Amino acid sequence: MITAVVGANWGDEGKGKITDMLGEESDIIVRFQGGSNAGHTIVNDYGKFALHILPSGVFYSHTVSVIGPGVALNIPDLVKEIKGIVDKGVPKPRVAVSDRAQIVMPYHVLFDKYEEERLAGKSFGSTKSGIAPFYSDKYAKIGVQVSELFDEKELREKLEGVLVKKNILLKHLYHKPEIDLDELMKTMAEYRDMIDPYVTDVGALLYNARKNGKRILLEGQLGSLKDPDHGIYPMVTSSSTLAGYGAIGAGVPPYEISRIVTVVKAYSSAVGAGEFVSEILDEAVADELRKRGGDGGEYGATTGRPRRMGWFDAVASRYGCRVQGATEVALTVLDVLGYLDELPVCVGYEIEGNVTRDFPTTGMLKKAKPVYEYLPGWKTDIRGIKSYDELPAECRAYIEFIEKELEVPVKMISNGPGRHEIIYRPEVSKS
Ligand code: GDP
Repeated sequence: MITAVVGANWGDEGKGKITDMLGEESDIIVRFQGGSNAGHTIVNDYGKFALHILPSGVFYSHTVSVIGPGVALNIPDLVKEIKGIVDKGVPKPRVAVSDRAQIVMPYHVLFDKYEEERLAGKSFGSTKSGIAPFYSDKYAKIGVQVSELFDEKELREKLEGVLVKKNILLKHLYHKPEIDLDELMKTMAEYRDMIDPYVTDVGALLYNARKNGKRILLEGQLGSLKDPDHGIYPMVTSSSTLAGYGAIGAGVPPYEISRIVTVVKAYSSAVGAGEFVSEILDEAVADELRKRGGDGGEYGATTGRPRRMGWFDAVASRYGCRVQGATEVALTVLDVLGYLDELPVCVGYEIEGNVTRDFPTTGMLKKAKPVYEYLPGWKTDIRGIKSYDELPAECRAYIEFIEKELEVPVKMISNGPGRHEIIYRPEVSKS
């Protein structure tokens, strides 16, 4: 059986913590999309870590951490991250990088930065990690697979052709220095030596693992609403964030992904530009939640940018669960809300005088105004509580309200950043 951990919202739902937790009962943990442009924050016995490219199960000595072919692989970032966790006392992880994964090239990072500068106020709020230029090249069929690093002659010929176009853009569109092929080849040789110990036929590894009954966990990055097909296009990321894409980005049969743990945050947060209907517009109210949010505040794990804050959006989250094909929900950061007298929940969008419960396309989303229902707060700290029945009645009412809105059973409730701060509800099933 294959389990996927994915996000229903805009990212930062706390997938890292849930993956770290589920990693205990997994053999292989796979990143299947995205790159080092987003981060997961994990708090465990070794300390607090911000991971960007390694799967969040990397802290166990019994697991293999896999970078699947669907990932945008930044080789220096990966190597730095492995070193960073080993330096903090974590046992050296077993990491397998797909020989078919493609490489984030130094020029992808440059083009990302230059394009954001060129667009100025109209930018997409990129993290400037080269992800959009990377995926553009991948689908334009001029990307570089890890395996290509090992044939210097072929690679040189290919890059010579690639640089013709790149250098025209650099010179005439961005007015920046051109790229020298010899320099680039030197960097490629360094990348080859860095990645060599990890290169694996990941397809075969996962095939054999399935044959031998191993437990595989797929870890998604960002969330449903950042998916290029189903999200708030164009303010989306460049690879699919959906569990369904796990089949492709890892290389496993779609019908085997039978458990889709969809992580939903008990309030909303988003990074960068884009439509965000339940955004808290009163800056003082937003700031209070931002400061209390997550573990040490809602600031981006990669960029440190303050996140935009919002109330729970049932319309977006139900849609987010639906496009993931959620089989269960893990509701996270519920402990943060214990200070509120009442909790607004966005249950509908008013668009041109009509109220809808369905998440619309971006053009309509721009016109949507939130319709709120207000639930009473519980005004206590729920951290440390281990069983559902011990939660205050108002808190249970909030969870059950959300569950009804999502139409998916909430089987896990996270009430703190730590690995063991979790309340299980094994008894709830799909209604
Ligand atoms: P991810 O990208 O989905 O893994 O999410 P992030 O790691 O970027 O953001 C989640 C933040 O919330 C991190 O700082 C976590 O340590 C923290 N976190 C996760 N679950 C909980 C929780 O239940 N309560 C609190 N207070 N913080 C949590």
